[in-house]
Amino acid sequence: MSAPFPEPGTPPSDLLRWAMARFGSRFVITTSFQREGMVLFDMAARIDPRVRVVTLDTGRLPEETYTMIEMVRERYGVEVEMVAPEAGEVESMVRQHGPNLFYGSVPERKLCCQIRKVRPLERKLQGVEAYAVGLRREQSESRESVAAVAQDRGRVKLSPLADWSSEQVRAYTAEYNVPEHPLYDKGFPSIGCQPCTRPTAPGEAERAGRWWWEESADKECGLHFTPSGKVLRTVDVLLEQVLKPNA
Ligand code: SF4
Repeated sequence: MSAPFPEPGTPPSDLLRWAMARFGSRFVITTSFQREGMVLFDMAARIDPRVRVVTLDTGRLPEETYTMIEMVRERYGVEVEMVAPEAGEVESMVRQHGPNLFYGSVPERKLCCQIRKVRPLERKLQGVEAYAVGLRREQSESRESVAAVAQDRGRVKLSPLADWSSEQVRAYTAEYNVPEHPLYDKGFPSIGCQPCTRPTAPGEAERAGRWWWEESADKECGLHFTPSGKVLRTVDVLLEQVLKPNA
């Protein structure tokens, strides 16, 4: 008989243990190798070093993220499953909107995130029954109601660190000597694609350096939260044009 769903308030490592026991290789950790994802991965690797780790290689990552991936491979002796966007979709998007379309408008930026992140991850997660991500409620307004265990398009989505503070994340990182992304030392509190991330000044919000040129849009790429209203409709239209045969 499979294990029952975990109770609210279950500690992160117990949540991971539950998912790994219940779903085996149909459970993955998805991470961009920021501190939160690394804490999850470190916890999971202590339970079973065969845990699968998946990351999105968008084609626009900073060099330091590849350095980080090599550090993780070496330290833990794991294979990192790097997921790339479909070349034809990227070609079509870039032909229609240019390589740096994200600076043009919010819908174009979200289109790029759809092609380089959301659609590749969805393809990768076919056959996966549960996955864990490093979301925390205090990271931003859009994340403040994140649940530790949720159902997401037919899968179980775990955010084991949902109620952790950044201090708890740093304390775990220090205690277990978990590798840290090199860009933290260069003033980046949140790390994504190279053209869309900058360091922040003291006092700025944690995700202020993501898509910093956008004033009113949420600081999200669509992996965890779907855009709403007019932006969603515009992104859908742009996506349809990019995906049209012979586009
Ligand atoms: S973060 Fe920027 S470069 Fe990366 S997928 Fe989104 S818009 Fe494209």
